[in-house]
Amino acid sequence: MAQECNKKSILLVEDEQEIADIVMLHLGDLNYSITHTADGIKGLTLALQGSWDLILLDLTLPRIDGLDICKQVRESNPATPIILISARSEESERVLGLDVGADDYITKPFSIDELIARVKAVLRRVDALQGLVATDVVSVNGIVLDPLRHTVSITGRAVNLTAREFELLLHFAKSPGQVFNRTELLEKVWGTRHDGYLHTVNSHINRLRSKIESNPAKPEYIQTVWGVGYKLMA
Ligand code: CA
Repeated sequence: MAQECNKKSILLVEDEQEIADIVMLHLGDLNYSITHTADGIKGLTLALQGSWDLILLDLTLPRIDGLDICKQVRESNPATPIILISARSEESERVLGLDVGADDYITKPFSIDELIARVKAVLRRVDALQGLVATDVVSVNGIVLDPLRHTVSITGRAVNLTAREFELLLHFAKSPGQVFNRTELLEKVWGTRHDGYLHTVNSHINRLRSKIESNPAKPEYIQTVWGVGYKLMA
């Protein structure tokens, strides 16, 4: 059963049984191994204990908020991809979610095709990172990224980045000095062209700056090119 060993493991924390059933049915069809819990505290415990390829996390849960779970998971595990599932009314929570380190979010009601596309995109990205070899270390302007070990240092100081933040910085670092607009970044780093996610790019840029810049208000590394986009200083 070699294939079983390669099954991606997904933790689903969702208290709406109907949604959980649909997600489990369709992702199960794609041969992912899904563990589901409707309880937030149990979800947090599972998230912290297990080794997951992906966590699908509902925002509004009994006993504990999805945001708190996200925050706590990120403290001990910067790399596991997290996709938030939020209701349309939870716009501000969703932005907060990206701020506490979620990689992506999907809004209820979502189509199963959209969910599958996002899950696949996230897992593909992680696979691509793991497929890189140690010689692919990227070094620019005092920033050193090691895709194999998923480590980043800024002038010797280790920095913890989420999978998406890492991918974003890596994208910049591979073409120092080149300006990318948000649509390009969305396409290359998020694997989507959906305009509704453009502000996600801003969120991640801000988050990244808060981690790598000594003064995020006056960034030395990731510069805004007004009216065009962003670039990493060469
Ligand atoms: Ca809920």
